[in-house]
Amino acid sequence: MDPDRPAPGRLEFVRHVLNSDDRYHGLDHAHDVDELNRYLARIQPRHSVADQSDLSAYRVLRDTTRALLLTPGPEIFFTLNELARQHPLTVWFDELGAPGLRRVSGGEQDSPLGVLVVSVLAAVHDGMLTGHWARLRACRRFDCSWIYYDGSPNGSMRWCTTDPCGNVMKTRAYRARLARNRPVKALAD
Ligand SMILES: [Zn+2]
Repeated sequence: MDPDRPAPGRLEFVRHVLNSDDRYHGLDHAHDVDELNRYLARIQPRHSVADQSDLSAYRVLRDTTRALLLTPGPEIFFTLNELARQHPLTVWFDELGAPGLRRVSGGEQDSPLGVLVVSVLAAVHDGMLTGHWARLRACRRFDCSWIYYDGSPNGSMRWCTTDPCGNVMKTRAYRARLARNRPVKALAD
């Protein structure tokens, strides 16, 4: 079974962007422009990349956002601030008066890549305010690392799926316990 567990609202788009580095299937959808556009068309048709330069920028956005989730630190914040500076956002009140972020129209940020960048940054911003960002997790099975949303009541999920990831991890833990408890064999004379 493929892993899933979708995130609420616009954070789901961010989750898909992060999982374009699909370690579960051993496939990086951002390995070339055509493959990435096929992937983006499936998750949000208005987003695309135009060329190799866009592809590189997409990878920086994706990998830095993943790092923001898993290993945040000053270098990550600096890179994201640089991206935000290139693609300005402004506060916008929706029809119910709720504030959010919207891109400033005009110039570089109107390119398809610009729209994609601000969609991710605005969704991360909103997700941090709602607390949903803190419920995004990477599967603890290292060779999976699938990004999923932990919707459990106490926020204690550890794997993207029970089968295979949870079962694999439980089996590894069981074998490790067995190895620790196994008596050391006496050396033969
Ligand atoms: Zn997994």
